[in-house]
Amino acid sequence: MLKDKVVLVTGASRGIGQATAVLLAKAGAQVIIHGRSNGNIEETEAAVTGVGLAPFKVIYDVTDESAMKQATMAIKKKFGRLDGLVNNAGVMQEGLLGMVKTEVMQSMFDVNVMAVLQQMQFASRLMMKNETSSIVNISSIIGQKGAKGSAAYAASKAAVVGLTMSAAKEWAAKGIRVNAVAPGFIETDLTSHYKGDQKEAVLNNIKMHRFGHAEEVANVILFLLSDMSSYVTGQVIGVDGGMVI
Ligand code: NAP
Repeated sequence: MLKDKVVLVTGASRGIGQATAVLLAKAGAQVIIHGRSNGNIEETEAAVTGVGLAPFKVIYDVTDESAMKQATMAIKKKFGRLDGLVNNAGVMQEGLLGMVKTEVMQSMFDVNVMAVLQQMQFASRLMMKNETSSIVNISSIIGQKGAKGSAAYAASKAAVVGLTMSAAKEWAAKGIRVNAVAPGFIETDLTSHYKGDQKEAVLNNIKMHRFGHAEEVANVILFLLSDMSSYVTGQVIGVDGGMVI
């Protein structure tokens, strides 16, 4: 499905990013895996190599704009283009609105919003010459519906929806499709602190009555990157087992 396509996945060290990198490699893509250090990307590197082409690695903190720019130049030098971007790196810190500290809100916006925007700017410069390319941003069902204790996270993920739709409008004529995926509750490190009654309450809200797997989000990302979705842009696709209907 993605033979010969060069695709960058941010936050590929674990969770949804790792599952996506592996699935894209299986689908024939040349995957560029992004991580914060060489050490934390090793597991993904081995998994990707096991199923497809050896990945190209880029290492930076997504809040470091100049490092992101340097990585973009390295991608340009190696491949001369970029066909797909999965803007997956993200953080969630909870706290009731009356208590949550400014630094916590700021750091979520730095990673979940500013870095996503900057990554799109850099990627688009490598995509403009392509006939078609695709960007997939990872939002959240919380960005659409809110959640107690998650106002700042919700705001950051709602911003992802706005920037996705705006970029889709700006770049459609350049052949760049831009969509978002809004996962519900996916079992990864990000949700591993949910326990007992709190987890049960979430489960009771999911119509399919089970939590999601990272691979089930990756499947939708693959669809949005591939030509199977050639007429889809500016959309937010929920992957939530019917949590929001
Ligand atoms: P995860 O397992 O916690 O993984 C988060 C990834 O983001 C890691 O690779 C992490 O790298 C990377 N990252 C975080 N901050 C970074 C930074 N400053 N610079 C570089 N990389 C950074 O989370 P996940 O569940 O897979 O989530 C992936 C995306 O899906 C996130 O955007 C999240 O908000 C979204 N999402 C998840 C759920 C869910 O239920 N899991 C639901 C809705 C949306 P390190 O390993 O170096 O920390």
